Amino acid sequence: MIKQKKRGLLIVISAPSGSGKGTIMKQLLQNDSNRWLSISTTSREIRNDDIPGVTYNFVSKNEFIQKISEDYFLEYAMYAGNYYGTPKETIEDKLNNGIDVFLEIEIEGAKNIKKIYPEAVLIFILPPSMTELIDRLRKRATDSEEKILKRLMRSYEEILELNNYDYVVVNDELDNSIKQIEGIMTAEKSRTNRVEEIIFDIEKDNLEDYLGGKGE
Ligand code: 5GP
Repeated sequence: MIKQKKRGLLIVISAPSGSGKGTIMKQLLQNDSNRWLSISTTSREIRNDDIPGVTYNFVSKNEFIQKISEDYFLEYAMYAGNYYGTPKETIEDKLNNGIDVFLEIEIEGAKNIKKIYPEAVLIFILPPSMTELIDRLRKRATDSEEKILKRLMRSYEEILELNNYDYVVVNDELDNSIKQIEGIMTAEKSRTNRVEEIIFDIEKDNLEDYLGGKGE
């Protein structure tokens, strides 16, 4: 009776670094082959938990600036002294083919995406507490104390701007976080603005005949 839009959802996931967003993303992608995570380009140095071409495409600062001038990015931002950007290509194709596209980006990028795609769903993932976040960042042991401090300062600023997002998920337990995000996706897919056509199996004008034919 209802024909809905086939177009995929555009989901923006933001979280302070160290909030467990990587694990959540991995699980979300494993649960459904109809989901795709955009690989960002960055000028930051490669960490030992990175896989070039998988976690990011790594370029120099100059290469990044060159790409900006070539209009390569849908959005880009500076984070803790480094450039990060979402390549334009393939996102539209994926959405048009009904694939749900995930962008794992920080708040400035998220705000820009909402301007370009007002239908984008913005989800913010919070760590259970700031002390937990600090512990996780320290355990990662890839960043200097100075860099950790820079990231934490930025996390505080981002959390205070939570109201730019549509939803918030507190990541205290992985399975619960996944369930919540998948619940949000189900709800978003049921939005009335995704209804393309309403097809009645009996037209209004034929109602009387239909009822009569049934002997009522
Ligand atoms: P990290 O260095 O920890 O991998 O990422 C630092 C921050 O940059 C994270 O908040 C991450 O979500 C964000 N980020 C990663 N890729 C992009 C991107 O393409 N655009 C924007 N705006 N932020 C990004």
